[in-house]
Amino acid sequence: IASHPLAYYCAELHHDQVQKVDKYLYHLRLSDQNIMDVSMRFRREMDRGLCRDTNPTAAIKMLPTFVRSTPDGTEHGDFLALDLGGTNFRVLLVKVSANGKQKVEMENQIYAIPEDLMRGHGSELFDHIAECLANFLSKLGIKDKKLPLGFTFSFPCQQTKLDESILVSWTKGFKASGVEGKDVVGMLRAAIKKRGDFDIDIVAVINDTVGTMMTCGYDDHHCEIGLIVGTGTNACYMEEMRNLQTVEGDEGRMCVNLEWGAFGDDGALDDLRTSFDREIDACSLNPGKQLFEKMISGMYMGELVRLILVKMAKDGLLFQGNTTPELLNTGQFQTSFVSAIENEKDNEGLLKAEQVLLGLGLEPSPEDCMATQQVCQVVSTRAAHLCAATLAAVLRQIRDNKAAERLRTTVGVDGSVYKNHPQFARRLHKMVRALVPDCDVRFLRSEDGSGKGAAMVTAVAQRLAKQHAE
Ligand code: BGC
Ligand code: MG
Repeated sequence: IASHPLAYYCAELHHDQVQKVDKYLYHLRLSDQNIMDVSMRFRREMDRGLCRDTNPTAAIKMLPTFVRSTPDGTEHGDFLALDLGGTNFRVLLVKVSANGKQKVEMENQIYAIPEDLMRGHGSELFDHIAECLANFLSKLGIKDKKLPLGFTFSFPCQQTKLDESILVSWTKGFKASGVEGKDVVGMLRAAIKKRGDFDIDIVAVINDTVGTMMTCGYDDHHCEIGLIVGTGTNACYMEEMRNLQTVEGDEGRMCVNLEWGAFGDDGALDDLRTSFDREIDACSLNPGKQLFEKMISGMYMGELVRLILVKMAKDGLLFQGNTTPELLNTGQFQTSFVSAIENEKDNEGLLKAEQVLLGLGLEPSPEDCMATQQVCQVVSTRAAHLCAATLAAVLRQIRDNKAAERLRTTVGVDGSVYKNHPQFARRLHKMVRALVPDCDVRFLRSEDGSGKGAAMVTAVAQRLAKQHAE
C-alpha cells in the first residue's frame, strides 16, 4: 500500500490544502472551552427537567423509567424480549440462570421493518410486530407458553409504571401515525389479542439506554449510566429519588432516561449549530426536534459529510468545482463510509475515500481524497466531543449526589457509531477524562444490551414481585 501512487502523493501534499479546508470547516471545530460551556449548559438543562415547576417547559425531559435497581445476580428464568428502534428490529428468547456464574443465553432473530410500515399507520406497525413474535414462537415451538416479555422501545416515552409507556414523539426514521400520545403496551397487547394464536405477559417497557445499563450492571455493579451512540443518541443514569421531583417519594434511586437528543430544541445550541446542521434538520422527518442528536448520531453523520462536500464543490474547493447526481442525492454518503475513511492504518482510509468518491461518479484528485478525510474527521470529532460534554455533566451530577471527592463509576455503552467508528470511542473517552478529571470512569461495551437488557429488567421485576408476595 505504501507504494500506491495515492499514498505517495499524499505524503507530498503541502500544508496549503490542509489549511484551506481547515479554514472552511472552522465553525465545525469546537474548542475545549466551547465543549466545557456546552457541558455546563447541559447540567442546567438537566436541573430544569428534574424540577417539577420547570419540567413542563424543559427541553431535556428526564423521563422516569420505574427501574429502581440494577440486577443482583439471583434473577433467573426464561424471558422474551422485543427490540425496536435501533438498526434492527429483533425478537429474543433470553435464559437467565442464577448459577453463580450469572449466565445469560439467547436465541434471537432479526426481522425487517419495511419503510412503509415505519411511516404508515401505527396499528399496521404493531400488527407486524405481533406477526414477527408469532413467527419466532412457532419456530422455537413455544407458542403455547405464556412467557414474560420485556419490550425495548427506543423512543421518548412518558411512563407511570413499568408496563405502561406513552410515546411522546417518534424520532430517527419512524413516523407511524396514531401512536404518539398512546400507550405502546396497550397497542401491542391489542395486536396480539386480535390474532388470538398466542398469549404473552408484557411485564416491562424500557429504553435501549436502560437495557444497556442493566446488561452491563449484571457484570459490573458500579454501572449506573447507559449510553447509546448509534442510529440515535441518548443516555440514562441512576438518580436520587429526592432529586426526581416528577415522581412521588424520596427514598432510594430511579433510573432516569435523559432523552438528551432533544438538547437544543429550545434554541440552547443555536450559537454552535451551522448552516449544515440547519439543512439536515429542515430535510428531516422531525424538523425542529432532536437537534443535538442530529449533530451526532449515525442517522445523520454521513449526510452531514455529504452536505459539506456538496457546498465545498459548489464553492470550487473540491472536484474542480464539479458535482454529480449521486453526490447531490440525499443519503448517498453512508455513515459507515465515514468510519471506513477514518481508518488510519496504512493509507486504507484514503484509499477508501477514493473508492467512495469514485462510487459517487466523481473523479477525485489526491487532494480531494485528503480533504474528504478531513471533513469526516471534523464531523465525527465534533460528535464525540459533544457527547463527552453531556456525559461529563451526568458524571458531575452523580458525583455531587454522592458528595464524593472522587467518583468511581462505569458507563455501559452501545451503538453502531461507538462500536464501529475507528476513532470515536477514543476521542470520547479522552474528552470526558479532560472534562471531569476527578472521576474514574470505566467504559464497558455492552454485548447486545438493548435485547438482553429488556429481559434483565423483566427478570428483576419478577424477582421483586415474588419477594413482595412472600
Ligand atoms: C431516542 C432515544 C434512544 C436513542 C438511541 C433517540 O432517537 O429518542 O429514546 O435512546 O435514540 O437509540
Ligand atoms: Mg421525588
